Amino acid sequence: MSRADMAPLPLSPVSDPCRVRATCLVCGSPALRPHGPAPLSLRRCGACRLVFVDPIPTPEEIAAREDAAFHGGVADHTEEMFEAYYRNYPDDPVVRGFRGVVHQLKETTGGGTLVDVGIGTGLLLHLGAEAGFRVLGCEISPDSARRATEEFGVEVLVGDFLDADLPAEIAAITMGDVLEHTHDPRRFLERAFEALRPGGVLYVAVPNHRSTTFLAADLLSRVPALAGLGSRVYVPNHYWYFSPDNLGQLLEQTGFRVELTRQEAPYLGRYAFSPPVRFGLTVLNALGRVTHLQARAEAYARKPLR
Ligand SMILES: [Zn+2]
Repeated sequence: MSRADMAPLPLSPVSDPCRVRATCLVCGSPALRPHGPAPLSLRRCGACRLVFVDPIPTPEEIAAREDAAFHGGVADHTEEMFEAYYRNYPDDPVVRGFRGVVHQLKETTGGGTLVDVGIGTGLLLHLGAEAGFRVLGCEISPDSARRATEEFGVEVLVGDFLDADLPAEIAAITMGDVLEHTHDPRRFLERAFEALRPGGVLYVAVPNHRSTTFLAADLLSRVPALAGLGSRVYVPNHYWYFSPDNLGQLLEQTGFRVELTRQEAPYLGRYAFSPPVRFGLTVLNALGRVTHLQARAEAYARKPLR
């Protein structure tokens, strides 16, 4: 989680350039237009404003990229997070954020089994166990899973969430910074809906495309000299760029009732930005707070009791 990844990743090219979407994943509109900085192959839905990479890599390509990401561009941040989480910096902002998620889920579900999809460092699982949840991770990167187990002693299923052998009666599922990495976010939400017990709660967090950060990036990308800077917010292993509205739409379509939405500014503390970029992102975060267009969107959505 929170592996905001600005560094370049060693990515293989997408295998089949013919796999292009004809309609929007969320609303089904065929009104799809090119979006943002060339040469990124982004498209935007004219109806619900979903932005996505087209073509999306296959699930196998995505798995290979996520494992490379754990070893490659984000390794330094990840290493530092292991140091920071819960040991040297008990008041770390990311730890505080995860604790808030766990607390909210405990309040709204009463506890039980919590499954974290895309575990990152494993910290959320650790905090979930501390709060009294039975915890289980599901992670596509074997190295990430092994590291979390060594570090926190948590159980992690390695593989694709869509095929995972999940326990019955799951009270809470967390997907922080996951949907934007998937081949098919709708199937991930459908799988979460099936797996949750009635009354169970799903937590989702994604980068918010309707934010000052992305608005600024899209503006910059129109200026040839600054286009490279603008395109940096479109991270190579992010394929879907949601807004709170179209994320909510997709959650409701898959059967959930959205009970709470929040926005937050990403914590910039652990990333190695140049001073002008750090200053620019800090200003955009501050503007995002004032305008309610912050760069991360979160939703808590319940599977109805019926
Ligand atoms: Zn749409």
